[in-house]
Amino acid sequence: MALRTAEQYIQSLRDRRTVYFRGQQVADVTTHPVISVAVNHAAIDYRLAEDPSHRSLCVVNDGGGDYSRYYQIPRTPEDLLQRSALIELATAEGGTLVVLIKEIGSDALCGLLRVAASVDEKHGTEYVRRVRTFRDYCCTNDLAVAVAQTDVKGDRSLAPSAQADPDLHVHLVERRSDGIVVRGAKAHTSVSTNANELIVLPTRALGQADRDYAVSFAIPLDTPGLVLLASAYDSTAAQGSVVEHPISARHKMMETTTVFDNVFVPWERVFLCGESEFAGPLALAFVEHHRFTAISYKLPLVDALVGSAMMMAEVNGVAKAGHVREKLVQLISYAETLRGLTRYAAMVAKPREAGLLVPDPLYVNMAKYHFAHGYHEAIRHVQDIAGGSLVTGPGAEDLEKEETARYYEKYYAGHGVGGRERLKALMLVKDLVASGFGAYQEVLAVHAEGSLEAEKMMVLRSYDGRPATAYVRRLAGLTAPAAVEAL
Ligand SMILES: Cc1cc2nc3c(=O)[nH]c(=O)nc-3n(C[C@H](O)[C@H](O)[C@H](O)COP(=O)(O)OP(=O)(O)OC[C@H]3O[C@@H](n4cnc5c(N)ncnc54)[C@H](O)[C@@H]3O)c2cc1C
Repeated sequence: MALRTAEQYIQSLRDRRTVYFRGQQVADVTTHPVISVAVNHAAIDYRLAEDPSHRSLCVVNDGGGDYSRYYQIPRTPEDLLQRSALIELATAEGGTLVVLIKEIGSDALCGLLRVAASVDEKHGTEYVRRVRTFRDYCCTNDLAVAVAQTDVKGDRSLAPSAQADPDLHVHLVERRSDGIVVRGAKAHTSVSTNANELIVLPTRALGQADRDYAVSFAIPLDTPGLVLLASAYDSTAAQGSVVEHPISARHKMMETTTVFDNVFVPWERVFLCGESEFAGPLALAFVEHHRFTAISYKLPLVDALVGSAMMMAEVNGVAKAGHVREKLVQLISYAETLRGLTRYAAMVAKPREAGLLVPDPLYVNMAKYHFAHGYHEAIRHVQDIAGGSLVTGPGAEDLEKEETARYYEKYYAGHGVGGRERLKALMLVKDLVASGFGAYQEVLAVHAEGSLEAEKMMVLRSYDGRPATAYVRRLAGLTAPAAVEAL
């Protein structure tokens, strides 16, 4: 096993992948003015592993050599707590933005490992061996792996095969002796411009009529026919000033619309092909791991909201005001409830298929819902305490030129600080809650790793309502057996 350096990771992205950005084909993602920001952000993963002070968290060794903790198969609550701590550390290094180049891929591998045995048992396939071989390949070569699950989907009320265009979900178009050919497109694929491999998973449960959509596989990002249409969102911040965008000028995650234009996949890399009854279990197994990743990486963001509110309350001289203290209590409770639920989900995790330990879905989904549901309110508190200068303040040049800077120093002074210092605080908070990056985080909060409705559904599904119902039935003195099974 060989851990890669950040430089080796960056070098590995100089291949023949087909990437477009704002209508232009990108020759080299590592030197592109916007995508290179995402590349350098992702390299945090490798830099942390090289740092002696973080190595014991980033790297594990079960006797066969060092490898990245992300590829460790979770067997104990401590494994999950350490994984969560690593995700939290990397995201904090990433200025509140998740790194994701191994987090999401290893979640997909856990989902695949759990479901492959059942498919093999029923259909006599050899998916367990293939998934294990691919997982070992990623682990041994310390690879960055993106995951494309969400299809473009077209009309959301229709099944894949009922769509006007059959390509709105990725599907099988040909079975050959050496592999399969697939076509379609996935949406919002994070880190695909700067990963080495791409795992494809079905997006939803599928019936027999949709069996050609029940496909899962892995391919290198430079596979012929794979086209990555990079998101243009907020691309100016990445090229902007670090004074004005202290986070988003340095940190970026790049998503793509990922087009499979008759892509060939060798059998060795196919993990599901037509076994439609396993599409739903596979989609769900991935999500059960990935939402735990999600709640872990939200922690630095909610900490930054609490810190921002406290910092602005202080420099604005309103830290003792009653309404401000009340908002701080709400923000602290918001952040620490998320932290508590995240840890508890790991502590009460249960072993599932293939002996993998799965974070408790009830607490994971409660945590994700709590985070997503409360995010905009938390932002409102920070915006309220910070004041309107979040959107009316100066640009970097105003603070560089003495001619204007002296006015800002004088007229933006606050409690115990000069104008320039207070504006530095404001610019960080602006980047978090009143910028393109801030809006990105808001949409990420609502949609990424599943919608609010998906989380609510999982809370209801995961909660065992029988003890609570039995309790109130006893208190009420009901003697007839329950007519309906609780939840
Ligand atoms: C920044 C970002 C990064 C992401 N990264 C990845 C990634 O790396 N890989 C990946 O696979 N995905 C990724 N996603 C996708 C994410 O999981 C989806 O955004 C999410 O599942 C919602 O899907 P959607 O965006 O198509 O919205 P939609 O599904 O269109 O949802 C829009 C609304 O319609 C509702 N809705 C949808 N279908 C139905 C229905 N049948 N009945 C009733 N209501 C319905 C939803 O509840 C929601 O209210 C990412 C998303 C974002 C925003």
